[in-house]
Amino acid sequence: MKTKNIISEPIIEAASEISISSSSGPGPISDLIRQMIAQLGEDPSREGLRRTPERFEKALRYLTSGYRQDPEKLLNGAMFSVCYDEMVVVKDIEVYSLCEHHLLPFFGKCHVAYIPNKKVVGLSKIARLVNMYARRLQIQERLTSQIAQTISDKLSPQGVGVIIEARHLCMVMRGVEKQHSAAVTSAMLGVFRENKQTRDEFLSLVKAAK
Ligand SMILES: [Zn+2]
Repeated sequence: MKTKNIISEPIIEAASEISISSSSGPGPISDLIRQMIAQLGEDPSREGLRRTPERFEKALRYLTSGYRQDPEKLLNGAMFSVCYDEMVVVKDIEVYSLCEHHLLPFFGKCHVAYIPNKKVVGLSKIARLVNMYARRLQIQERLTSQIAQTISDKLSPQGVGVIIEARHLCMVMRGVEKQHSAAVTSAMLGVFRENKQTRDEFLSLVKAAK
């Protein structure tokens, strides 16, 4: 099987595409953070920390903005009917997420492939879908399968494969993990699960040109 459609450049999402409710001012989260800073033995009123609770709340709301996005809306209007049944691969999508066990970042690369069944989706939408699920409290395994399952549900492709390689700060910062080791998760559906040749093709494309 020939593969014609490989995107390997990182896709950067315009910040304007996500609405951040920052206009609402300090909310209940910043009050909690102020208390937390005091509980840690710091002085929340000292200069460097004075506005930290508001900044943290704003950042956290952005990093969890995926809860306020709907995959239906995200993909609708970007799906096209085609007579194309070769593998579509989008490599090296940057992923930044928060581990739900420690609320610390995990980050790395996501690779997505699917073989269409009369329907394709705009390539940039795949990166947006990855971002949408990454901007929630996650575990890497669920993030991987949610991306695969959504593509499977919305496009009904012949198959879909998703691989995420990520480093978890909750592990590296605490020395649980060797500094450079990454956790790798994959979800294979349809022909990617049933057909070793398809899966191997995807894996070799992901490994190529690293
Ligand atoms: Zn963790």
